Amino acid sequence: MNIRIGHGYDVHAFGDGDHVMIGGVRIAHDHGVLAHSDGDVALHALCDAMLGALALGDIGAHFPPADPQWKGADSRVLLRHCQALVAGRGWRLGNADLTVVCERPRIGPHAQAMREAIASDLGVDAGAIGVKATTSERLGFTGRGEGIAAHAVCLLVAA
Ligand SMILES: [Zn+2]
Repeated sequence: MNIRIGHGYDVHAFGDGDHVMIGGVRIAHDHGVLAHSDGDVALHALCDAMLGALALGDIGAHFPPADPQWKGADSRVLLRHCQALVAGRGWRLGNADLTVVCERPRIGPHAQAMREAIASDLGVDAGAIGVKATTSERLGFTGRGEGIAAHAVCLLVAA
């Protein structure tokens, strides 16, 4: 088989802070997120999708929260690590599609910068990276503004 599909999902709760990292982009906000790393839900979901596509386990297995080397980690470093794993096994990213779920902050104005950051880390065209955002109509934990969720799917192609 010369294609593989992967799916990832991640959530972080809001906590104290003045910004959030989403899709590799720093967004000023009246909260931060609780996380061991920089708490970038979009990149964590994407890492899980890429790992999942090759059945390599999940992000927690590759970057254990208890490991001090990942404390406050820039999630773009994790993403590039996943990219290297994928490339090392003879695969490349065909495309990826991400959906970020939150009421605030607004994602739309930053979506293009996220696409470019992700594409640069994965060595692909920004046209291969979709970043979309939705609210959950004030329902559930995202609707109550308690946290942010992200979904990602990706297609890997034999290099
Ligand atoms: Zn995460």
